[in-house]
Amino acid sequence: MLPQNALLAATGTTIFTVMSALAVQHGAINLGQGFPDTEGPAEIVAAAAAALKDGRNQYPPLTGVPELRQAVAAANRRFWGIEADPDREVVVTSGATEALAACLMAVLNPGDEVVLLEPLYDTYLPFVRMIGAVPKLVRLSPPEWALPRAELAAAFGPKTRAILLNTPMNPTGKVFTADELAFIAGLVARHDCVAICDEVYEHLTFDGRRHIPLMTLPGMRERSLRIGSAGKTFSLTGWKVGYVTAAAPLAELVAKAHQLLTFTTPPNLQRAVAVGLALPDEYFITLADGLARQRDLLSAGLRRLGFGVLPTRGSYFVTADFSPLGFAGDDAAFCRHITEAAKVAAIPVSAFYAGPDAPTHYARFAFCKRPEVLAEALDRLGRWAARRTSAAAD
Ligand code: PMP
Ligand code: GLN
Repeated sequence: MLPQNALLAATGTTIFTVMSALAVQHGAINLGQGFPDTEGPAEIVAAAAAALKDGRNQYPPLTGVPELRQAVAAANRRFWGIEADPDREVVVTSGATEALAACLMAVLNPGDEVVLLEPLYDTYLPFVRMIGAVPKLVRLSPPEWALPRAELAAAFGPKTRAILLNTPMNPTGKVFTADELAFIAGLVARHDCVAICDEVYEHLTFDGRRHIPLMTLPGMRERSLRIGSAGKTFSLTGWKVGYVTAAAPLAELVAKAHQLLTFTTPPNLQRAVAVGLALPDEYFITLADGLARQRDLLSAGLRRLGFGVLPTRGSYFVTADFSPLGFAGDDAAFCRHITEAAKVAAIPVSAFYAGPDAPTHYARFAFCKRPEVLAEALDRLGRWAARRTSAAAD
């Protein structure tokens, strides 16, 4: 047999790709993989197109073009009151995916422990394992996904170097509260750790709730690596422009990891994202308001169909319990079935668990789609449910 990396050989194709392919195959509305079905702001796209034509197409600086680093620093100040030096404390990456990898590489050695909260985004665990670090999983439980404080505290030990925190959280739609964050900050400080903060949904919070970067808590400025993504903030998920804000000694290590992973990120896209980050507050408010309405539409529709719909406070996603519908099968079977039979795709929530005994009765539906598309998806699910009822009665 040819040589192969055992971890990669054992890794399946990501559920997002699997479900998107199945959606295409069956002509399903794709409420699986989280990407909007509308373009991002026209002025950002126009800025990228213009930037392609003005002769700056060679390698940009390793840590990002100055325009974008300055824009990230300015956005940190405007939205969160975080002061960051654009030259020493910001690193631009090729998406949050690369940023996550670079941050983990920056702070972990083989054998170091990292605390992860389950359910978790699908790149976290394989990457932690790939660099030889040891994951310590702590599980949040539906419907509230509250932080299990005693278990979290017990997961920290002498070998812990980092916690990876995702707020607003995929797939749960949870937005960590100030109290929960203060508890996490206490553990991070007490154990002399850092926090890698995946905040790609920082602007996507609803009902007046505000995202709180852990970095803004006392003692956390020097211990946090804060990750953002233009994909989510500007509805341009294909662009893969991310950014890390961290104290200079950490940012320097992240830059070295970025140097090894990709070295740089396309300069025209960086310059366009800088234009985006300078958009007026109104853009960011309108984005979240629109998504909140889409969440309401989808949540209410699923509830009418009999799903047990969990609250979503941020992100692109609604988690729904399908067990009241009487489907005999687990979440993977359910999502496959509705993709084929109802022509609506969703993601099985068990895909976000690594540990044993993951719940298998939840599906994640993305609502970052036009209202008419969500309405059509609900119609399709309604027709599917009606067909099942009449078949059962026959
Ligand atoms: N983190 C989370 C929680 C995500 O949902 C995603 C997916 N968009 C990413 C990271 C990756 O972001 P990007 O597309 O910028 O690489
Ligand atoms: N973040 C997206 C989601 O959770 C997927 C991104 C990807 O496919 N890698 O749906």
